[in-house]
Amino acid sequence: MAKIQVLDEHLANMIAAGEVVERPANIVKECMENSLDAGARTISVEVFEGGITRIVVEDDGEGMDPEDARLAFCRHATSKLRTEDDLFNIGTMGFRGEALASIASVAEVVLQTDDGTTGTRLRYSYGNLVDQEEGRFPKGTRIEISGLFVRTPARFKYLRRPAYEFSIISDIVNKIALSHPDVRIALSHDGRPVFNAAGSGSRQEILYQMYGRDVAASAVAVDEADEDFHITGYVVQPKISRASRHYMFMSVNGRIIRSRQMQDALIDAYADYMPPGRYPIAILDVEVDTQLVDVNVHPNKWEVRISKQPELMELIRETVRKAFDMQLRTVEISTNT
Ligand code: ADP
Ligand code: MG
Repeated sequence: MAKIQVLDEHLANMIAAGEVVERPANIVKECMENSLDAGARTISVEVFEGGITRIVVEDDGEGMDPEDARLAFCRHATSKLRTEDDLFNIGTMGFRGEALASIASVAEVVLQTDDGTTGTRLRYSYGNLVDQEEGRFPKGTRIEISGLFVRTPARFKYLRRPAYEFSIISDIVNKIALSHPDVRIALSHDGRPVFNAAGSGSRQEILYQMYGRDVAASAVAVDEADEDFHITGYVVQPKISRASRHYMFMSVNGRIIRSRQMQDALIDAYADYMPPGRYPIAILDVEVDTQLVDVNVHPNKWEVRISKQPELMELIRETVRKAFDMQLRTVEISTNT
């Protein structure tokens, strides 16, 4: 008998979950990305005990028919990618087709969805479909995740206090709101509303909610482009600074990312205006042809590879320099008159 065996689907999903579902915040991110991909205008996120006991994400997106709802939980099942070419031309947040399969392998999941014509509700328990019924629901999708890692004690042990887990969730929800200011996003913790982005399209309004009036009032709008990149967002005047790098938000084509290089370019651009050890507050969204971005770097999709990286870094520096140059000039003009 062969020593090597192909893993059964449940085991494979649990292994994938190791990369995708480290903590409740990853679940919130994956579910919100699915809502955005479904064209949602409103997303509500309800979290209980830092997401450890329960997470509910509800959207008014396109929903799924009963067959798709079943398929959605299969590993490598996606509506967002068909051919090899598509992989180098990704315009959606998701494409790997593994989030729902992974999440359902390590938690209890109830998915309720309706595409406007048909609807269904199905329940998964640690990898097994335990119930599916057809029925009509509000158009869109509601997914409820509970009992995370209860059957995988080694993973459960790594969860931190609810307050800490919630702080990571809140951070991700804020970032997604900043990168999609035209979507209404509400977040609550243990039944208390915590954050509410109106979907008005104004990132400044969201900044105001996150950091208060001084920061929002000191935010300078930016809009710069070269042949390949278009940067929009806000850079906060250097008179307000922070002691850590956590206040520089980057997104590429609406995808929130972590990029040390982009942060370094920002810090570099602020260097003339800010003492060492202090860091700026900024939100930059980069729009670029999807062919110039490789999003398939890690299962959690926090990193991207960008062609023409040096050009982008230069454009970031230029963007900041121009913003403050203009600011300084405005100040001069107003003091002269
Ligand atoms: P991916 O997003 O990479 O395709 P997922 O496992 O996150 O993989 O989701 C699988 C599929 O389920 C998606 O491709 C999509 O068709 C469907 N889906 C998931 N969430 C939603 C949602 N909120 N609204 C509509 N369709 C959804
Ligand atoms: Mg997804």
